Amino acid sequence: MKILNHENTDMENFNKKSICISQIKKTISFYRYFNIKNPKQLQIILLQKFHELNILGRVYIAHEGINAQISIFQKYIYMLKKFLCELNSVFKKVKLNLSIDNHVESFCKLKIKIRPYILNDGITDPTFNMKKIGKSISIKKFNNMCDYLLVDVRNSYEYEIGHFKNAMHIPANTFRNQITNITTVLKNFKFKKIILYCTGGIRCEKASAWLIHNKFEYVYFLKGGIINYVNYMIKRNSPLKFIGKMFVFDSRLYESITPHTISYCYQCKINKSYLHKNCQRKKCNFLFLQCIQCNKKFYEFCSSYCYNHKDL
Ligand SMILES: [Zn+2]
Ligand SMILES: [Zn+2]
Repeated sequence: MKILNHENTDMENFNKKSICISQIKKTISFYRYFNIKNPKQLQIILLQKFHELNILGRVYIAHEGINAQISIFQKYIYMLKKFLCELNSVFKKVKLNLSIDNHVESFCKLKIKIRPYILNDGITDPTFNMKKIGKSISIKKFNNMCDYLLVDVRNSYEYEIGHFKNAMHIPANTFRNQITNITTVLKNFKFKKIILYCTGGIRCEKASAWLIHNKFEYVYFLKGGIINYVNYMIKRNSPLKFIGKMFVFDSRLYESITPHTISYCYQCKINKSYLHKNCQRKKCNFLFLQCIQCNKKFYEFCSSYCYNHKDL
């Protein structure tokens, strides 16, 4: 596992070794909440530049900001960063999160889409204000903090295959449902120090604003999410408090953070598994964990019912 720091990529000091490294593709994610007046215009600019830099991936643009997961040649990372900063000064503060595991190609196409939101929250309250967010905390501060409630605001299927050892979970399979459930689940902790985390920060930043809107007093979120935490800790050879796999929303499905498997096959409930499958019976499409033995028995169907009623 090799972690490369994009901050140190110096385009003028290429030597043979770096030219070789530059051919390596990296998966990067970044997001930023800021007011985008003309998403269409930004879409056109990004499409042109991303084609030029051979970038693949999935980008969402909305009036509330941008969210991107991309696959990029290492040699172009510096150029991308420079381009974004010149495009808009808000990108100067954007952290390009390098994925932890880069063994498999993450994207095979480029899609830049305009959406009503970069993160669908279902919030209809017009007084909700994304400018009033919780305090972002650095990894260093996070490691030294005590007496807090650590809350995972990712979906249940993400949490089940890997999470921080002492993290609490808000059961939900969409962010909209997280938002609906979080205030109820945490109702007894309005005056407790709460640290939220997600994969890269986009969800916990919004969830932190929602908690503040609902009069929670001490709301924090982990800056750069799990990705930033793991990269930071590995670079320093420090032990990880995160255990298992991290779910990712691209063709890889997960990144292996530690060798542990903490979840069980939904079908036999005996063998461990971290491999998610969608039930192949179209009407079912249930997302479930399946072990190799059950896969041999049921193929990619979630139950004997779905296996026997494939076409129903
Ligand atoms: Zn099984
Ligand atoms: Zn099924």
